[in-house]
Amino acid sequence: MKRIYQLLFVLLLLYSPAVSAQQTLIYCGRLIDGLQNQVQSEATIVVQGNKIVRVDKGYTNPATTDKVIDLKTKTVMPGFIDCHVHLESETNKNRYLDNFTMNTADRAYEAAVYAQTTLLAGFTTVRDMGGSGVNVSLRNAINKGIAIGPRIYTAGKSIATTGGHADPTNGYRKDLMGDPGPAEGVVNGPDDCRKAVRQRYKDGSDLIKITATGGVLSVAKDGSSPQFTEEEIRAIVETAKDYGYKVAAHAHGAEGMKRAVRAGVTSIEHGTLMDDETMALMKKMGTYYVPTITAGRTVADSAKIPNYYPAVIVPKALSIGPQLQATFGKAYKAGVKIAFGTDAGVFRHGRNGAEFEYMVEAGMPPMAAIQSATVVAAELLGVKDQLGSVEAGKMADIVAVNDNPLQNIRTLQQVTFVMKNGVVYKQE
Ligand SMILES: [Zn+2]
Repeated sequence: MKRIYQLLFVLLLLYSPAVSAQQTLIYCGRLIDGLQNQVQSEATIVVQGNKIVRVDKGYTNPATTDKVIDLKTKTVMPGFIDCHVHLESETNKNRYLDNFTMNTADRAYEAAVYAQTTLLAGFTTVRDMGGSGVNVSLRNAINKGIAIGPRIYTAGKSIATTGGHADPTNGYRKDLMGDPGPAEGVVNGPDDCRKAVRQRYKDGSDLIKITATGGVLSVAKDGSSPQFTEEEIRAIVETAKDYGYKVAAHAHGAEGMKRAVRAGVTSIEHGTLMDDETMALMKKMGTYYVPTITAGRTVADSAKIPNYYPAVIVPKALSIGPQLQATFGKAYKAGVKIAFGTDAGVFRHGRNGAEFEYMVEAGMPPMAAIQSATVVAAELLGVKDQLGSVEAGKMADIVAVNDNPLQNIRTLQQVTFVMKNGVVYKQE
């Protein structure tokens, strides 16, 4: 009898920690886990702390200490990842004047609001593709729990050549223009390129963004010609590798894109005038395409509003903007890897989910569009072991919508439940 009591005592010691640790059981009416191509029905996601510990078939009975979240009428998915946002600003007709009137602290307060809006729209992770450096502080504040927002991977300040798309003094009066150098992200020649990458490392960036061609919203005439030599891009990619950085290249014109792809960048952003040759090259090199269709459509719409943009921008927005969606459709058909990205900030934050609709409109099946914003995006970020799917061991980043997105893609624009890192931020 005594031995039995001893055995029971040992068993109790062994099992008590597991029993007492509080778990959250999420009942999913429908589950899209990011990995399987089918929608599963009736499943339970078991969350402990900030991790998913298990996914069960059916609705698991809770232990007395467990918390239950009932999403039996919803479709549950991994938190969405937007690979191209700018959290420091949002489109408005004064944005060019803002450069002269807004202090860094003003930017920071606004960015904190945009970050929260983005998270509540279901985007639990974003890549911030360039700002003043407020985006680095924002990431840190969110990680510390001071601000509410998505998990941020930030480029800090984009790298451009003199007069290039991300030269911060484009369009300024001559005496204000000065000659910004690598510290400000403006480079000329391979040495500057190396210095600019190292400066981003010092600033605390997570990745490198370059503007390989002209762009729509810079105060400059050309929106698509190359703005880096291939040698310069190679210097950037090579130096970035030393710091474990991936390189994202903004590009509209094909020549600039090809230089960037040949030089080994990880992703092409926008890719508006991508030709067949570029698509073949991207497939060969394994380069991702981040389309940003929403930005293309919205800049074209805004350009039609009188005086919304400076005059030099209007023809660029009207010609480049509307072409993006068709290019995306061709690239998807050609088999180029697509990672979801919107360029939010160029349009209102929180509207990121519209991109799904535009992708499907251009011929991508809804499930593939969802995967581009989950598992594929996580792969692009290099964090596929932590994010992008609902399975044991992954971070508990989970969202839900009312309808089945395979039947109604627009439901992804109305996310009703958001969990990030095991914490619930929205439950309607
Ligand atoms: Zn952008």
